[in-house]
Amino acid sequence: MSWAQNSAANLLPLSIEQSRLAVALKEWLYTGDMYDLEEPVETCELCEHPDIRYQFKIINRHNGNEMLVGSECINKFGISATDELGNVLDREGSRRRVNRDRRFLVNEARKRRMINTLVALSAVEEEFDINSFISYVLDRDAFTPNQLALLFWRFDQREIEYSPRDFKIVIRRDREKNQLRQMEDWKIQKLWASMSTSQRTWVRRNTNYEP
Ligand SMILES: [Zn+2]
Repeated sequence: MSWAQNSAANLLPLSIEQSRLAVALKEWLYTGDMYDLEEPVETCELCEHPDIRYQFKIINRHNGNEMLVGSECINKFGISATDELGNVLDREGSRRRVNRDRRFLVNEARKRRMINTLVALSAVEEEFDINSFISYVLDRDAFTPNQLALLFWRFDQREIEYSPRDFKIVIRRDREKNQLRQMEDWKIQKLWASMSTSQRTWVRRNTNYEP
């Protein structure tokens, strides 16, 4: 069966409308319940697409039935979302809500991996004051260039696995810019994967570093 046939076979029995998929889809709403399973282990209950990691719950507004689906299905079928006050959004607003919620889950997962890496470092380095680093990053969601260079150096020293993309860098204040201007190339190289496109452009223009 195609994904459309799968979806009709799965959705219609849980809807009031029993034959027309397009009509039945209008009974369903996404109201903001979403889950990160941390691994792509589930199947979309609507289209049966495998390897779903981020599950979004849709609810039938007439009978209260629920389904756990992938975010792409909500967009593909034009299922309406509600805003935080429960107002039903139009198609574009629904798409924005779903995409924003998905980005939220992805970002939360990134932060969890980052904190776990810091905790792993603190377990092997007694003098490392993890709490100051954690409270700093929870405040700003990013480290200064010097902080991050120090962290990555310590991860390498202690052979702690980490993904540079899980860490963000801040280059906004003069202090942070000066840190990069004075930093050796090999340290900037280590920070490169953590930088955004605009940050890389800044580094190219303001330091001697050649990626
Ligand atoms: Zn699906």
